[in-house]
Amino acid sequence: MENEKCPDCNNTGIVKDASGVHTCFKCLVSGRLDQHSEKIRESKIRL
Ligand SMILES: [Zn+2]
Repeated sequence: MENEKCPDCNNTGIVKDASGVHTCFKCLVSGRLDQHSEKIRESKIRL
Protein backbone atom coordinates (compact mmCIF):
# COMPACT_ATOMS: atom_id res chain seq x y z
CA MET A 1 0.00 0.00 0.00
CA GLU A 2 2.90 2.32 0.68
CA ASN A 3 3.89 2.07 -2.97
CA GLU A 4 0.65 3.56 -4.11
CA LYS A 5 0.76 7.06 -5.42
CA CYS A 6 -0.73 9.64 -3.13
CA PRO A 7 -3.70 11.19 -4.95
CA ASP A 8 -3.25 14.45 -3.09
CA CYS A 9 0.41 15.18 -3.75
CA ASN A 10 1.59 12.53 -6.23
CA ASN A 11 4.18 11.47 -3.64
CA THR A 12 5.84 14.85 -3.63
CA GLY A 13 4.74 15.44 -0.06
CA ILE A 14 3.53 18.87 -1.07
CA VAL A 15 0.02 20.00 -1.83
CA LYS A 16 -0.81 23.24 -3.56
CA ASP A 17 -4.12 24.97 -3.16
CA ALA A 18 -5.63 28.43 -3.33
CA SER A 19 -4.06 29.49 -0.04
CA GLY A 20 -0.55 28.34 -0.92
CA VAL A 21 1.74 25.35 -0.60
CA HIS A 22 1.39 22.90 2.25
CA THR A 23 2.85 19.65 3.44
CA CYS A 24 0.60 16.81 2.38
CA PHE A 25 -1.46 15.93 5.45
CA LYS A 26 -2.35 12.54 4.07
CA CYS A 27 1.30 11.60 3.76
CA LEU A 28 2.06 13.06 7.16
CA VAL A 29 -0.46 10.92 9.01
CA SER A 30 0.49 7.80 7.09
CA GLY A 31 4.16 8.30 7.95
CA ARG A 32 5.07 8.43 4.29
CA LEU A 33 7.22 11.48 4.77
CA ASP A 34 10.61 10.99 6.32
CA GLN A 35 10.69 14.02 8.55
CA HIS A 36 9.67 13.31 12.15
CA SER A 37 7.68 10.29 11.05
CA GLU A 38 7.68 8.80 14.55
CA LYS A 39 6.26 11.94 16.10
CA ILE A 40 3.63 12.10 13.41
CA ARG A 41 2.58 8.56 14.04
CA GLU A 42 2.05 9.40 17.69
CA SER A 43 -0.09 12.38 16.83
CA LYS A 44 -2.10 10.27 14.44
CA ILE A 45 -3.51 8.35 17.35
CA ARG A 46 -5.12 11.49 18.68
CA LEU A 47 -6.92 12.32 15.46
ZN1 LIG B 1 0.52 12.96 -0.19
